[in-house]
Amino acid sequence: MHISSDIRSLDIEKLERILLKQNFEKYRATQIFDWLSKGDTRSFDQMKNLPKDLILFLNSRFIINNVIIKLVTKSDDGTVKFLLSLCDDNIIEAVLIPSENRITACVSCQVGCSLDCDFCATAKIKRMRNLDFYEIFDQSMILNFESVKLFGKSISNIVFMGMGEPLLNYKNVLKAIEMICSKKGIGISKKKITVSTSGMSKIIKLLADNNAKFKLAVSLHSAIEKTRNDIMPFSKDFPLSELMDSLNYWYKKTKSKVTIEYLVWESINDNMDHIKSLVEFCKRVPSKVNIIEFNDIGYLKFKRAETSWIQKYIEILKINNIPVSIRRSRGQDINAACGQLANKI
Ligand code: SAH
Repeated sequence: MHISSDIRSLDIEKLERILLKQNFEKYRATQIFDWLSKGDTRSFDQMKNLPKDLILFLNSRFIINNVIIKLVTKSDDGTVKFLLSLCDDNIIEAVLIPSENRITACVSCQVGCSLDCDFCATAKIKRMRNLDFYEIFDQSMILNFESVKLFGKSISNIVFMGMGEPLLNYKNVLKAIEMICSKKGIGISKKKITVSTSGMSKIIKLLADNNAKFKLAVSLHSAIEKTRNDIMPFSKDFPLSELMDSLNYWYKKTKSKVTIEYLVWESINDNMDHIKSLVEFCKRVPSKVNIIEFNDIGYLKFKRAETSWIQKYIEILKINNIPVSIRRSRGQDINAACGQLANKI
């Protein structure tokens, strides 16, 4: 079974042409697309307003490659991890993170990841392929159904912080966001969606030009070029000056402050030089800082810094009027926390 035979990979005009050729009415394509954008349509047989011969034709010609839940794991802190299988048996992971007033879904956009962040478990599995927009959409809809089942309410926020680099699959990510935010999808505002990137400056500008309405987060982790290049080797192709430039451009176009994601490790960036460089960076880019608690993935090189260093970061950022928050680790016991998604059961 090949992914390209999924009916959702066609655009509506193409489907209209195919239907006309088979002597079906053109408007049937719109009806079919309506069903497909509902999120719980698993087969053509569910499409009640279509004539039987059309359903027969669709079944003979196309498939709907649904994303399927393979395994659900629950953490002691309420976080739930889903192992999902795709039509070609590739596996991705997605996570539901409930908190007092929101349910956040963390979704994947690639199978594996092509980047090489040394501290991230996903980077250790090679990138197999991009997800299609409908796979990202299915994933979000599945999480939404599960959220209602488990917590009695819909997803309130979505973060593209699962497996993969969203900006290396931005066309599918953008299309999926449109569908998720539509009335037929989950219907949440784009402001409730955060796309996290490791910092592809050119694409950040391109998204800004395309009137992006979602929030942007950037995994900085060090505002000193050499350290950043060491821990995130791919970043040699994306100098900090260009990143800064693109983030200013983003702000100019969207008026939305970027979130700087930042991990603090022992003997890597737990020092005053790094704190000062981060402050300098943030003074030049309208931003807020989110310090993430590091989740151990079993490499000796990376160890969470002493709490006193994290406090120091917070204190100095605050003195400089730079908004700062801390992202507590969730779902660590089931390998569902940031950087731990690696299809390990
Ligand atoms: N590729 C995107 C999104 C995936 S990672 C990006 O780089 O932003 C989501 C966040 O988790 C990133 O900020 C990433 O740097 C961080 N992360 C990676 N490994 C981690 C780990 N072991 N502990 C905590 N956060 C980690």
